[in-house]
Amino acid sequence: MLTMKDIVREGHPVLRQKAVVVTSPFSEEDVKIAEQLLEFVKNSQDPEIAAKYNLRPGIGLAAPQIGVSKRIFAFHVTDESGNLYSYALLNPKIISHSVQMTYLDGGEGCLSVDRDVPGFVPRYAKITAKGFTPDGSEVELKLKGLPGICFQHELDHLDGIMFYDRINEKQPFEPPANSAVLR
Ligand SMILES: [Zn+2]
Repeated sequence: MLTMKDIVREGHPVLRQKAVVVTSPFSEEDVKIAEQLLEFVKNSQDPEIAAKYNLRPGIGLAAPQIGVSKRIFAFHVTDESGNLYSYALLNPKIISHSVQMTYLDGGEGCLSVDRDVPGFVPRYAKITAKGFTPDGSEVELKLKGLPGICFQHELDHLDGIMFYDRINEKQPFEPPANSAVLR
């Protein structure tokens, strides 16, 4: 299982690389990476396992964050209605998005960033996304709220983008244009 030792931190060049598309049929290695990412996120949310292994709780993790520059990430996150979105995805992408933007009023955090970086991170309020599950089936997801923000944060990791790159440097708490806050 993955632990915090496996997670690369900001400053590591892999976090700034554009990750490569994985070829299908997916190799055993790529499937294993996807499954390990999801397992880590789930473990990190389990109070007993997290305490035992000193895991910082997270809702998503991308392959570059374990030093693997491939287009794979996982998330395990509940929306405001209590619906769970739990996926390991290979070659995820956004196929359409709203004009309307959103942002978390508390800002974002990242398992690869060991400090608070205050400020609003503009995200699309709604996205339609696609990706492949480890068994090779394609899924289409309509996401908004926290699951949508999480997907965009993880997708950024595959393009070498950190959440704080999107914070308005001069006015970090200026609400983004066309946006509604997510509390
Ligand atoms: Zn992150």
